[in-house]
Amino acid sequence: MNNTELYIIMAEHFKLDGGACFGVVPKSIWSKLWQPDENNMLPVCNRCLLVRDGERLILIDTGIGDKQTGKFREYLYLSGDDTLLDSLQKHGIDPADITDVLHTHLHFDHCGGSVRYNTGGDGFELVFPNATYWCSKTQWERATQPNVREGASYFKENLQPMADSGKLRFIEDGNFSPNISVRIYSGHTGGQAIPFISHQGKTIVFMADFIPTALHMPLAWVPSYDTEPLITMQEKGDFLKEAADNQYILFFEHDSEREACLVEHTEKGIRAGKTGMLQMFIS
Ligand SMILES: [Zn+2]
Repeated sequence: MNNTELYIIMAEHFKLDGGACFGVVPKSIWSKLWQPDENNMLPVCNRCLLVRDGERLILIDTGIGDKQTGKFREYLYLSGDDTLLDSLQKHGIDPADITDVLHTHLHFDHCGGSVRYNTGGDGFELVFPNATYWCSKTQWERATQPNVREGASYFKENLQPMADSGKLRFIEDGNFSPNISVRIYSGHTGGQAIPFISHQGKTIVFMADFIPTALHMPLAWVPSYDTEPLITMQEKGDFLKEAADNQYILFFEHDSEREACLVEHTEKGIRAGKTGMLQMFIS
């Protein structure tokens, strides 16, 4: 049975350093495809996805949220009016309706919108009061006992309220809901959970930070953020072959210009083929 509905939920627009986005690839090459601004920054976004799967209303990732202010927001060049809750409201979704929050991982730009200051401003509360909060066990351990490299990406104020609530559960590799299965990839960070969604006979893959934009198809185009680039390359090679052979639709969380794409075999390897809004691929 396939009775899924999909809603695109834009949480934020921000910027990332172009060099960090493309790792060892020289600027002279990547900048021909994506022109950075005068500060070498690229415009990116946090484009979350809401999936109605039978009785469940599953929100995949929640963006940065509104707890950080001042210098932090300036450093990220946060801009625009989109917020997680406004975007949900545009689809008539109340936070209390969400049954599951599926975190691909717990870097601040993927889970910050799950927790906010309480009305008194003296503590924190979960934004989705009736939801179960999910991430992989490996990722939870990475987040709560961070290594030196990743420590700055995990915020205690995002994690502790989830732990204290008793609503945190661990995702396993495999079925998550009737039409969503999850696979664990670990090149970007340990235990990143990537959702594969069956919708109208097609498979949509929520790419998160596994392959963050449509420009990241060449195997060596790996962001500096990835903790295990050789593992990323292996995982990416295997995934892209499967995606090309099965016409998976890749849905991008961070690619501000390209919402989704198909991939295809070319002489140079597997590359993005048809690119555009998700709706183009599923209607
Ligand atoms: Zn990440």
